[in-house]
Amino acid sequence: MSSEREERESSELYWKPDCPSILVIACSDGRLEEQTDRFLKQELGIQGYDRLYVPGGPGALADSGFEYERADRMRKECRFLVEAHQIREVILIFHGNSEEGPEEAMCADYVRKLPDLSNAQLRAQQMADVRDVMHMVFGWPPDLRISAYRAEVGPDHSLRFVELAKR
Ligand SMILES: [Zn+2]
Repeated sequence: MSSEREERESSELYWKPDCPSILVIACSDGRLEEQTDRFLKQELGIQGYDRLYVPGGPGALADSGFEYERADRMRKECRFLVEAHQIREVILIFHGNSEEGPEEAMCADYVRKLPDLSNAQLRAQQMADVRDVMHMVFGWPPDLRISAYRAEVGPDHSLRFVELAKR
């Protein structure tokens, strides 16, 4: 009886009153979730963070494709998070295949919004979107740190987080 109670007590969950100061923007794709958490923890030393996980990740904030209203709405959601929690650092994580990797590993949201582009063109578009989002039109707060990575799937399905930009 008492051990059962102990077990129950140790599994209780508590809310943390302190806001995280880091916001991670990544794709909702669950096939990358654990690996992303591990990358953030082991490579960048980050554990507690706010998340904006939407299809396309940071690409959803860019003007690529023809869904300008969506990008605009996403930027508003993003701005809300940055302001509400006084975010100091934003980490953008794009994803897709590496140059030699399997094309089916390309972010499905990019394939959906730009169906006429080849895989190489989609990868180039992601790079253009990195620049677009880093210098986002609505304006990040001037002292905000931003870094961008791309989770790249190689030919053997290994995953590598490549740093693309930093400010
Ligand atoms: Zn995706």
